[in-house]
Amino acid sequence: MTNGIYKMISIWEKQSLLQYDVIVVGAGITGLSTAASLKESKPDLHILVIERGTLPTGASTKNAGFACFGSISELASDRKALGDEGMVNLVNRRYSGLQKTINRLDADRIGLLVKGGYELLNEKTSHYINDIDEVNDLLKPIFKSAVFKPANEKISTFGFSGTPHLIENPFEGQVDTGMLMKSLWQYCNQLGIQIITGTEVIGVSETEVRSKDFTFSAKAVAVCTNAFTKKLIDLDLTPGRGIVMAINTKKPLKASGTFHYDEGYYYFRDYHGKLIFGGGRNLALEEEATTDFGINSKIEEKLHHNLKEMILPYTDYEVEMIWSGIMAFGPTKAPVVQKTKDGIYLGVRLGGMGVALGSLVGDEVSGMILSEHF
Ligand SMILES: Cc1cc2nc3c(=O)[nH]c(=O)nc-3n(C[C@H](O)[C@H](O)[C@H](O)COP(=O)(O)OP(=O)(O)OC[C@H]3O[C@@H](n4cnc5c(N)ncnc54)[C@H](O)[C@@H]3O)c2cc1C
Repeated sequence: MTNGIYKMISIWEKQSLLQYDVIVVGAGITGLSTAASLKESKPDLHILVIERGTLPTGASTKNAGFACFGSISELASDRKALGDEGMVNLVNRRYSGLQKTINRLDADRIGLLVKGGYELLNEKTSHYINDIDEVNDLLKPIFKSAVFKPANEKISTFGFSGTPHLIENPFEGQVDTGMLMKSLWQYCNQLGIQIITGTEVIGVSETEVRSKDFTFSAKAVAVCTNAFTKKLIDLDLTPGRGIVMAINTKKPLKASGTFHYDEGYYYFRDYHGKLIFGGGRNLALEEEATTDFGINSKIEEKLHHNLKEMILPYTDYEVEMIWSGIMAFGPTKAPVVQKTKDGIYLGVRLGGMGVALGSLVGDEVSGMILSEHF
C-alpha cells in the first residue's frame, strides 16, 4: 500500500527535485537577496526559490525605483517616534542596504543614477525646514557632509507651481526597477539557485513547503512574501496598495531627479524623458489596505489634479500606463526579520523603502539560517 502523495511523485523527483538545504518562498527583492546571500556564503548549498507568479507579483517589479533613505519630513517624524538613535539606525540600514545592492549587482546593471532627491514643502509642511540642521548633524557620521539643504532656486527650473519650498538631498538616487530585478534574477541563476515560478505555496512548516502539486522539504524555510504573508503565517501586518503612472509630456520634462511630497505619500521622478508618478494612498487608507491589485479612481483623480496644478502646470500630458503594487506595513517601520515559534524564518513587512532594505533583510535572514543550520 502507498499513500496518495507518493503515488504522485517519482523517485527521481524525490531524490533531486523536491529536497533542498534551504527553500525561500517569494522571488521579490527580499527573497532573491536572501537566496543570493546564502549561496554567496556557502556555494555548496542547494537552494530553491518558489514564486507564485510567472514574474514576481508583489512590490519589487511594480515600485517607483527610488533609491532613497527618507526625506526631511519623514526623518523628522521618525526622530520623534524612534528617538535620535532610532532614526539614525533606520537611515544607516537603508543606506547600507542600497550599497549592498550596488556592490552585488553593479550600478550600471541596475540603472542607478544619483541625480539627487527633493522634497516639495507647502505652507503646512514648511516647518520641516527647522529640522534640517539637527537632522544633518545626526547623519554626519554616515554621509560626512550635509544631507539636506534648501534649494528653492530650482523650483522654477523644474517647472513646479504652488510649491513654496524645495529641500534637496544630493545622496538620493533612482534605479531602473526592471533592470534591478532582472539582474538580481540573473545573478541568482549564475550562483546556481533554482527558481520555480507559477507555483503558489499553500502551506509552510519548519522543514516543508507545500504547493498544490508537491511537498518540498528543506533543512530551513524562509518566507519572504511581504504583503501576502498572512495567508501563510499569522503576523501583525497591513497591506498597502500603491498606484504608479508612467506619463509622456508634450513638452520636454523639466523635472530631473526623485521628488516626494506630503510626507512621502506622493512621489515622482524622471525616467528616460517620462514622468513616473505615484502615491496618494493616504486618501483612502482603509480601502487601500488590500492585497488585491487595482486602481482606486478617487486616488487616480487626485494624481491628475496634482499633475495639472503642481507638477506639470501648463503642460499637456498623457498617461502611457497605470499599475498598482502591494506594500506591507506594521506597527513600526522596522521590517520583520525573525524566526517564528514554529521554526520558520521570516524576512517581510518591508514598507515603502524596500528597494533600499531588501538586500539587507536578505542578508540578515541568511545570517540567521547559516548560524543555526550550516
Ligand atoms: C507602488 C509602489 C511603489 C514603491 N516605490 C518604492 C520606491 O520608490 N523605493 C523603495 O525603496 N521602495 C518602494 N516600494 C516598496 C518596495 O517595492 C518593497 O518594499 C519591496 O519591493 C518589497 O520586496 P519584497 O521582496 O519583500 O516583497 P515583494 O516584492 O512583494 O515580493 C514578495 C513575493 O512573494 C510572492 N508570493 C507571495 N505569496 C506567495 C506564495 N504563497 N507562494 C509563492 N510566492 C508568493 C509574490 O508573488 C511576490 O513576488 C514601492 C512599493 C510599491 C507597491
